[in-house]
Amino acid sequence: MAGIYVHIPFCKSKCRYCDFASFPDKIGFAESYMACVYREMAMRKEELKNYKFNTLYIGGGTPSVIDETYIAMLVAAAKKNFNLTPDAEITIEMNPGTVSASKINTYKKCGINRFSVGLQTAIDSQLAELGRIHTLNQFVTCAKLLKGENFSVDIMIGLKNQTLDDITKSIEVAASFGASHISMYALTPEDGTPIYTDYLNGELPDGDEVAEMYAHGVAKLKGLGFERYEVSNFCKKGKYSRHNLNYWQRGEYIGFGVAASSCINDVRFTNTFNLDEYFKCILSNHFAVIDSQPIDDAGKKDEFIMLALRTAQGINRAEYLGLFGTDFVEEYSAEISKKSAYLDISDTHVKIKDEYLFVQNSIIIDFLQE
Ligand code: SF4
Repeated sequence: MAGIYVHIPFCKSKCRYCDFASFPDKIGFAESYMACVYREMAMRKEELKNYKFNTLYIGGGTPSVIDETYIAMLVAAAKKNFNLTPDAEITIEMNPGTVSASKINTYKKCGINRFSVGLQTAIDSQLAELGRIHTLNQFVTCAKLLKGENFSVDIMIGLKNQTLDDITKSIEVAASFGASHISMYALTPEDGTPIYTDYLNGELPDGDEVAEMYAHGVAKLKGLGFERYEVSNFCKKGKYSRHNLNYWQRGEYIGFGVAASSCINDVRFTNTFNLDEYFKCILSNHFAVIDSQPIDDAGKKDEFIMLALRTAQGINRAEYLGLFGTDFVEEYSAEISKKSAYLDISDTHVKIKDEYLFVQNSIIIDFLQE
């Protein structure tokens, strides 16, 4: 099974921490852009005719900022061009400042069955500081419209002036309105974004403080019945994101739209980040790929190890043996003994101990070849 990702690169305005491909000043091009995405899908139809897709993820940007009929047409185009299984998980990302009852009804009618809502924090002053366009009240309205639906909420830690109580409040708000999944990410101050200046000025929490926030959030989430299945992702029983799990399991996926990346047949490729270039390519019936890299055996191993060690389950030794012909524990005995204090090793799995999952990068690095 494989996944489909579609990138909608429009937002109402740019958040202060954002370095994603999103163009607040280009929203007037939404209709032409979506026409190109439908065309790009048709261009891939023949090549992907033998694939079965069990997820479609509409991300961005802010997919909920554009007219809902474009989204309905997008889902229809995906169903028309590809083998999307009848029980496919179809997710749309939504910003609470762009949602209405009519939009959500259209989404549900066209087959969308999972919603990912960007709350980030339940504290209005922090939302304003981040440059988010919405308030807590708007999130509450959105969550009420999603009552009974399968929805996820994004929360951020590591914000300026954020306290542990603020994190508790954000988690409690998301959980109390029925979220079945919560993603809790640490703010990454990217060079070139306005928030990077805050970071340089020492206004953001330091690494130890963020680690404390993370541990606090994990305990709170666990207490509310959310199980951690990946370093930043928590869900009620069985409500994991099938789409993201496919990434972490090195599954195949095809991406459409500006900046969308794909991994098909052990080749990774990425579309241009430039909107004009994307239009020009698709309108002249050319793919908009700017980078394409086949993955060699060492690369496959690195990816498998890196992705699996991010998950709570860790590396499945039988799966590793089946894929690469060796036992992971034997092959990496030197690295394992060096990092043994951080690892749980059983007959079936090798995983990072729960308490060290947040610092997994510093542990994983020793296992990578490239
Ligand atoms: S809503 Fe998301 S994609 Fe849009 S500017 Fe904010 S962080 Fe970036």
